[in-house]
Amino acid sequence: MELKILVLPGDGIGPEVTREAVRVLEHVADKWGHALTLREGLLGGAAIHAARTPFPDETKALALETDATLLGAVGLPEFDELPPSQRPEKGLLDIRKALDVYANLRPVQAYESLLESSPLKNAIVRGTDILIVRELTGGLYFGQPRGISGSGAGETAVNSMVYRRSEIERVGRMAFDLARKRGKRLTSVDKANVLENSQLWRRTMTRLAADYPDVALDHLLVDNCAMQLILRPSSFDVLVTENLFGDILSDEASVLAGSIGMLPSASIGKRLPNGVWRGLYEPVHGSAPDIAGQGKANPLAAIGSAAAMLQYSFGLLEEAAAVEAAVRRTLAAGRVTADLKPAGEPATTEQVGQAVRNAIDPPRAARG
Ligand code: NAD
Repeated sequence: MELKILVLPGDGIGPEVTREAVRVLEHVADKWGHALTLREGLLGGAAIHAARTPFPDETKALALETDATLLGAVGLPEFDELPPSQRPEKGLLDIRKALDVYANLRPVQAYESLLESSPLKNAIVRGTDILIVRELTGGLYFGQPRGISGSGAGETAVNSMVYRRSEIERVGRMAFDLARKRGKRLTSVDKANVLENSQLWRRTMTRLAADYPDVALDHLLVDNCAMQLILRPSSFDVLVTENLFGDILSDEASVLAGSIGMLPSASIGKRLPNGVWRGLYEPVHGSAPDIAGQGKANPLAAIGSAAAMLQYSFGLLEEAAAVEAAVRRTLAAGRVTADLKPAGEPATTEQVGQAVRNAIDPPRAARG
């Protein structure tokens, strides 16, 4: 298969962790016989330095030409005092919008070897393997009207939670499809006891369920879901919810995994004519200026994002599973960076990347 990928290393630890993720992709392409076409572009602070804008037109053109984009992280302390529209992080919002990636997927897994890093008791967190699907381009963050008007005691702020049925359907179908490939259980999260918006959400999800008789759908109110994620995280399979609820719940769930350096994310948009899903893949963490350039950054979130790209954009399930298994083996062997508090000497970013590559099983055919 031809894999056309744009790499945007960005700032801080971004280049260090994406380098390891790219090496893993090269290794997989080599072992499984895929043709890898890699392009590299500028985003964030690096782009401001070179082109005076966080999202240059050239980067946009490259992103629209390629099938999938792997992003490191953006943000540099020197830009911290600037208004949001001039900061590196603006590049991130712009590229998500340009690619029209409407579903944000965040897998949260409790690795056996990292149970002690979780703030929850081992018995509660053990076995957790959740996929959160968050609608990314609608709802309160984009709805009109919005703004602040008036003055004094009458000063009023308005935000609008707006969803069209078609927007709910497309993310809903994606969540059902994903649940079908996993544990076949989907939990739709809303606030249907109070919000008309959520009533449309719930009705739409219930109607879609008829097309997926093999997937068990249930509904949870968002406040109850926030509680259940802490009480019984291992009982969830796929969660789907609107933008604001997803923003909050995915951060809540992310602490279950132990370190922010472990968390990948995938944002998926349209299906392209070649059958590939256009996607943007990035670690959840930022540019970590405090450890940049020191070889201390954990590359596993970036490597996990590369695995997610193989799975969701290219449908290469065996390859993605092989990378994930290699990550688990690397963790179990204790070959980890300092953020995961290893018993012995911490490994460097490069050493962890090398350990993952060494642990990737060759494809079945090659094992012969
Ligand atoms: P951060 O995620 O960069 O760092 C938070 C803490 O986690 C730091 O102590 C850091 O050393 C540690 N950490 C983060 N990733 C790690 C990794 N892979 N391995 C080991 N330790 C890791 O968040 P922050 O400090 O709030 O933000 C720093 C900059 O990153 C800011 O400019 C912020 O705006 C930007 N940011 C960017 C993104 C993104 O690009 N998606 C996300 C969040 C923050």
